[in-house]
Amino acid sequence: DALSNKIAAGEVVERPASVVKELVENAIDAGSTVIEIETEEAGLAKIRIIDNGDGIEEDDVLTAFQRHATSKIKDETDLFRIRTLGFRGEALPSIASVSRIDMKTSTGDIGTRIQVEGGKVQEIERAPARKGTDLTVSDLFFNTPARLKYMKTIHTELGNITDVVNRLALAHPEVSIRLIHNDRKLLHTNGNGDVRQVLAAIYGLNIVKKMVPIEAQSLDFRINGYAALPEITRASRNYISTMINGRFIKNYPLAKAIQEGYHTLLPIGRYPIALLNIEMDPLLVDVNVHPSKMEVRLSKEQELNILVTEAFKNAFKSQQL
Ligand code: ADP
Ligand code: MG
Repeated sequence: DALSNKIAAGEVVERPASVVKELVENAIDAGSTVIEIETEEAGLAKIRIIDNGDGIEEDDVLTAFQRHATSKIKDETDLFRIRTLGFRGEALPSIASVSRIDMKTSTGDIGTRIQVEGGKVQEIERAPARKGTDLTVSDLFFNTPARLKYMKTIHTELGNITDVVNRLALAHPEVSIRLIHNDRKLLHTNGNGDVRQVLAAIYGLNIVKKMVPIEAQSLDFRINGYAALPEITRASRNYISTMINGRFIKNYPLAKAIQEGYHTLLPIGRYPIALLNIEMDPLLVDVNVHPSKMEVRLSKEQELNILVTEAFKNAFKSQQL
């Protein structure tokens, strides 16, 4: 119901960046190869996501806005083998409960247009649309003034959005992603599958030239990624990106294991630029810890951390001589 959607929104939709994250994840789950993100006022005025994915069948459009309606898991065992980015069926109803949504979607033939305001469906009709989904979120938090007040500056909120989009682009070099804010282009990846091109689009070619590949494996894990040489450092841990099975995660011990790989090469208070991608049996990782799906619980954490530290150490062996 409307109230429980609004309560769930408090957890799923913390800020404009969480909306961007959920919607782009949906576009990726739908098999899109091109995704365009347009924002205004750091997403508080407008967030529009246009994708060329599978679209939603006419009969499923209303359901998509109902809580726990996910097309992605069918039974309990699926919950422990999650390969899609979404699975909780909470994002659309949560976002819809605290904003105005105008969505056009089509699976290829008849399109559907739906308008939802504060969780209430205002209008649903057939409408011509090309294959894919074009969803606009306006006036985020218009009916939750307390949440709106809690927003930081446009600058900070926009920073969070670019962070989220950069990470999704890094995790999906096979998808062309474009981010535009107030008509200014902030990111454009070409979708050719080369993660170095994404790194270049985010950090610039000069940094990428100073990044070395990382690769290692153990019985349970396969890791790969890129690490900037120790001469390039940043003042925050924000430039360490870690993902497991294509999903971005926050995991302090992992970031720490990466830093340890740099050993004594990092000045105090300085952090590396690094991208770490971990492939593992989905059964060994629990992503259902928090509604944002960013926190994970790992089995065999110790084994993984050692593997990571060693991989980074090896990458800089020559520097340490
Ligand atoms: P979840 O992603 O956890 O399944 P959501 O609330 O994010 O839940 O989305 C609900 C459902 O709406 C999805 O399961 C999917 O079937 C459909 N959907 C949402 N966004 C898109 C999209 N961009 N393209 C195709 N289908 C979508
Ligand atoms: Mg989703």
